[in-house]
Amino acid sequence: MDFEPVIGLEVHAQMLTDTKIFCNCSTQFGGEPNTRTCPVCLGMPGVLPVANRRVVEFVLKTALATGCTIQKYNQFARKNYFYPDLPKGYQISQFELPIATAGYLDLELEGAVKKRIGITRIHMEEDAGKLMHEINGIAGDSSFVDLNRTGVPLMEIVSEPDIRSPREAVEYLKTMRSIVQYLEVCDGNMEQGSFRCDANISLRPKGREKFGTKVELKNMNSFRHVEKAIEFEIERQRDMLEDGIEIMQETRLWDEKREETFSMRSKEEAHDYRYFPDPDLVPLVIDEDWIAAVRAGLPELPRQRRQRFIDEYGIPGYDADVLTVTKQVADYFEAAVKLHNQPKAVSNWIMGDIMRSLADSRDIASFAVTPVHLAGMIALIDKGTISGKIAKKVFEQMAETGKMPESIVHEQGLVQVSDSGELEKAVQAVLDANPQMVEDFRSGKDKVFGFLMGQVMKSTKGKGNPQLLNDILRKQLAG
Ligand SMILES: [Zn+2]
Repeated sequence: MDFEPVIGLEVHAQMLTDTKIFCNCSTQFGGEPNTRTCPVCLGMPGVLPVANRRVVEFVLKTALATGCTIQKYNQFARKNYFYPDLPKGYQISQFELPIATAGYLDLELEGAVKKRIGITRIHMEEDAGKLMHEINGIAGDSSFVDLNRTGVPLMEIVSEPDIRSPREAVEYLKTMRSIVQYLEVCDGNMEQGSFRCDANISLRPKGREKFGTKVELKNMNSFRHVEKAIEFEIERQRDMLEDGIEIMQETRLWDEKREETFSMRSKEEAHDYRYFPDPDLVPLVIDEDWIAAVRAGLPELPRQRRQRFIDEYGIPGYDADVLTVTKQVADYFEAAVKLHNQPKAVSNWIMGDIMRSLADSRDIASFAVTPVHLAGMIALIDKGTISGKIAKKVFEQMAETGKMPESIVHEQGLVQVSDSGELEKAVQAVLDANPQMVEDFRSGKDKVFGFLMGQVMKSTKGKGNPQLLNDILRKQLAG
């Protein structure tokens, strides 16, 4: 039988506010355990939480950017469960009346909508604390609780089960991350856990409406892991269904070392949490003026920026796609082009050498080669001071030392030789040393040209102006 995967994603995005969702404690990552806490986030008896206006604003931004309907009357609810990292014994979240519903995200291919994924709801909630089972890598006989993260604001974005493959899941996440980064409401850092995702996966026979039993997957902290975990889970469920084994509704964790999922617990239902409206927090009423103000303040989003890059800089759609995935890369590109107006050259360097150097970190904002370095280097190529080949060397050294391109070129004498007299001598020397090759070329073997050109470049230590050398070599071979 042919099975179809049905996938829904829940994204937890940590809001980039300075303070927590219901108190004034700092949200900064790290810090001595339990120093960023107060009676409110510690859940002391008698304290009253007060909602952080910025959190609401950030969620409104996201909701408007994803076509959601804003619920003008919404409420915080208590989600009750016991765990040592949850001092109050409940998490303040939203349940029946979330802040936003019925939005969507378009997955695109070269600017055209490929597939629309529905967004069921977006709601606000607080994060729990952190349990530490080992100190300095050593597991003792006790565990420790750090409540610095307790009360850090989160936004949960729940998608419709519209996703049909691991690929689509990753694309959805990348698009969503790009949007929250552009909105500057979340830093999108998956490794540090400020952008997390759970996946609900089930399989059903192709053509059937009814969903199969779903399994929730957790603990995937990179796009690659999301893709692999979902792939694994689809295979696991398919094997079971083919063998006539029933799927259990459960929560499974991804083990990145063994590259498989394993069962954590049987999945709880919503009613297990005994949700009820939080009596300590007044219902949140959002009026039209507030929505209008947030809408008016929305920044340029990835799609719009992509189109502007094509129109304004005349770069291909593919380049615009790559350059606008993150705001940092897009900002970097524009900063470099402002300094040296050669958009396509700047784009090529970013998509090639820069992306390669950054590898997985993708942290272009703290890269040693700044837009000033890059623009300066491309200007040197355009002026003919260095060749494209030498530029690769200069680039490597900029990345290593952070020195400016001009100083690298001068310190190491990398200036391109464009003196034709000098180049002619170099070419003649190579021709004199390879009489057979010259003979071959003149009798029609064009292929040896490449070899001779290589020899000439080598004899000038890569510093000869390649265009000039090419011309001189052709002329001398012809004569
Ligand atoms: Zn606090």
